[in-house]
Amino acid sequence: MNATRALTPPRTPLPRYRIYTRPKMYATVLGDLVRRRVQLGTDVSRLEGALGERFGVRHVVVTAQARVAIHLAIKNAIRPGRRKVILSPYTIFDVVNMVIAAGGIPVFADIERKTCNIDPALAESLIDDETGAVMVTHLHGLACDIDRLADVCKRAGVALIEDAAQAFGAKLRGRPVGAIGHAGIVSFGLYKNITGFYGGALLTNDAALADAARTELAPFPQLETKSLLHRVIYGFQTDIATHPILFRSFTFKLFRMGTLYDIAALNQRVDPEKDPTLRDQLPEHYRRRITPLQARLVLQHLPRVDLETHERIAIAQRYAEELEGTPGVLLPPLATDGSHIYAYYPVQVANRKHVLETLLRRGRDLAIQHLRNTADLPCFAQWKRDCPNTRQTADEVLLLPTYPRYGHAQAVATARALRTVLTEAAR
Ligand SMILES: *Cc1c(COP(=O)(O)O)cnc(C)c1O
Repeated sequence: MNATRALTPPRTPLPRYRIYTRPKMYATVLGDLVRRRVQLGTDVSRLEGALGERFGVRHVVVTAQARVAIHLAIKNAIRPGRRKVILSPYTIFDVVNMVIAAGGIPVFADIERKTCNIDPALAESLIDDETGAVMVTHLHGLACDIDRLADVCKRAGVALIEDAAQAFGAKLRGRPVGAIGHAGIVSFGLYKNITGFYGGALLTNDAALADAARTELAPFPQLETKSLLHRVIYGFQTDIATHPILFRSFTFKLFRMGTLYDIAALNQRVDPEKDPTLRDQLPEHYRRRITPLQARLVLQHLPRVDLETHERIAIAQRYAEELEGTPGVLLPPLATDGSHIYAYYPVQVANRKHVLETLLRRGRDLAIQHLRNTADLPCFAQWKRDCPNTRQTADEVLLLPTYPRYGHAQAVATARALRTVLTEAAR
């Protein structure tokens, strides 16, 4: 994007992540609060229409959280005698809970090391007479190659469900991910590349599934203004703390201290996957519908998404160029055809803790991927399956930032620092 800037990498760090909120979103929230219209308006159906058009699906059901959409999709895909759900263990633990709460039996299928996604051939081989659904996750915005799996599922009468929570905007051979299988899920959570602070959507061409989902959601109240406001304030704090000026002078030092001195209280704040627990029912506070305000916010964001995707792909390309041939790192596949939208650029290194600490000392702010191998979690012991690739990957992923405001100069600086550390370690 800016070749001259890229040649003189900046020494001051930018944060490991920034959320995709914008000042205008906070202004919209304030305006709605003042006019008392958070809960009013027909924008939820307007958003459903816009998403239907964008994804080329007949039915869209917008939900208060993506995980609720996953729950609804699974619940309607399984039936007596066919309750097994084949899924990737490399995902947020609450996704596994959604399967269990829906009455499904999780069958963990190991991932491919390079893509961090479920191995489609392995998933296919696990399908049997008791399988109700296969759920794939397009993790980090990297589309899982599912064309063949989709065919196999169709012939076997098994629902293919796509968790596209991290992949909004990715297209596999021209088809939007989330719209390839029997049902797809996207997220508008706070940390996603399109956000309404909270939110999600179920995409499908199956009218019966859409009707069933609407029937289940109908008795739920809309998310309370107070709860939404809590989330907005949390988002605002995050925006302030990661703003370049405060980040440089304060937040970075705090984050770095947290990691270097292993301060649990600090690190836990940035670990969303702490304390994994089993939930065999949809928690009470998940039983909500999205507010019209959130739908308005997502609609506001929608026109920006493709441009931001484009910028992330360009940053991923930079990482790929700079890191090619570096010893001791497994890079993700590079695709510039839109199939991979790079929510992050996930690299895998053997001695992750050491690499992270060295990079922090060198003034590069990075995050580890907090996802665990859910197939190994004690709370899911009952469904344990040996998934060696996931076990290794869960210990090795470092997330290189790709958010558009990070820019090419920072990406080059981060890649070069990583390259130096790994080259020194290989000597
Ligand atoms: C964030 C996420 C979800 C859940 O999204 P929510 O909107 O927070 O419920 C599901 N799957 C993956 C892979 C995610 O990253």
